[in-house]
Amino acid sequence: KQKQKIVILGAGYGGMILAARLQKSTVYRDAQITLVNKHNYHYQTTWLHEPAAGTMHPEKTRMKIDSVIDFNKISFVKDTVLEVKPEERKVVLENAELDYDILVVGLGSEPETFGIPGVHEHAFAIRSVNSVRVIREHIEYNFANYNKQDEKDDSLLTFIVAGAGFTGIEFIGELSERIPELCEEYDIPREKVKLYSVEAAPTALPGFDEELVEYAMNVLESRGVEFKINTPIEEVTAQGVRLKGGEEIHSNTVVWTTGVRGNSVIEKSGFESMRGRIKVEKDLRAPGHEDVFVIGDCALIINEEINRPYPPTAQIAIQQAYTAANNIKALIEGKKDLEAFKPDIKGTVASLGGKEAIGVVGSRKVYGNSASVVKKMIDNRYLFLLGGMPLVLKKGKLKFF
Ligand code: FAD
Repeated sequence: KQKQKIVILGAGYGGMILAARLQKSTVYRDAQITLVNKHNYHYQTTWLHEPAAGTMHPEKTRMKIDSVIDFNKISFVKDTVLEVKPEERKVVLENAELDYDILVVGLGSEPETFGIPGVHEHAFAIRSVNSVRVIREHIEYNFANYNKQDEKDDSLLTFIVAGAGFTGIEFIGELSERIPELCEEYDIPREKVKLYSVEAAPTALPGFDEELVEYAMNVLESRGVEFKINTPIEEVTAQGVRLKGGEEIHSNTVVWTTGVRGNSVIEKSGFESMRGRIKVEKDLRAPGHEDVFVIGDCALIINEEINRPYPPTAQIAIQQAYTAANNIKALIEGKKDLEAFKPDIKGTVASLGGKEAIGVVGSRKVYGNSASVVKKMIDNRYLFLLGGMPLVLKKGKLKFF
């Protein structure tokens, strides 16, 4: 009998944990498993604000996929997914086509622009190792250029972070830590540099406890961040941003962090979706497609307590990978009963740069240095789940204090 073909798209949090689980179980012997990813490395998306600001080297956030996944057990294809053809059980890649019996879509997300003009053309996004390499170099280039010019251009030293949600706050926190170092290195007085956090909603960090939001804003303001809350951006231009009401801020660097939508492959493939995310069944399969699982940022699940979607997180992607691994194993063994996915939210901690962070762990609020230690433990825990202690020692955040 021919072995069934399992194809996993994307080696992010979901895809990597799933592949690691399958190679530990008997599934890799009973089925032919293929992992497809754009690059031959995996990166931790949740760390990317650090290399973007230049407080961590980009190398630290990535690892070769074969340092964790055994390519004798799981075949690896380095290619870009263009489209899934669910009716034909085929995946179209840039350079090849793959057939599948069971497909897992774990392609992550893309920036949400809400149709605001100029975002694609003029703003940066924190979304991959390559995108943050560019942000890091661009920031330094602006500093280097400032003093080179006779007529000083202040927009080189004005940085706008669009969106004061989780990612925007984490990034501006890192950047506010990095600025004094850059000022020192490039002989620029600190007060010349402007950092703006612009948010359309009535509060920074929507969804977070008020006290934590206030703490975060105080920390960031003390490092020179200026908040513009309740202030939608109407357009991004080559000169900066135009805010609702007409005010313009001139800036050579706009970083767009206003949330995400599912990977565009989802819409291109004709799956029914909301903002590019497939509202999955309890067992994580796409409605009407018994052979397609969806995990991570491409999957939409509803928090029934408040009847709203869960925000897409690595935490959920990892937990979904465990459920998907169990369900795929059950299908390969010919079982019909699949496990229902239940998220177990352990908490959320946002770093503010340096030794500062805020968050909730269980039902407890955490602040400051202790929150920052918890954050590093969360980052290390993921590495532990993926590759055990050796990976933590090699790639982990080991300096806690
Ligand atoms: P990803 O981890 O993004 O992986 C997707 C993979 O698919 C990538 O390897 C990519 O290269 C590959 N890929 C994409 N398109 C293609 C294609 N067409 N062809 C082939 N390969 C492709 N979540 C938390 O839980 N806690 C946090 O503290 C946290 N902090 C964050 C901080 C930042 C700065 C950001 C940006 C996000 C943060 N998140 C956090 C959210 C978290 O990163 C995502 O929810 C998580 O990465 C989703 O995992 P995933 O497996 O769906 O996709």
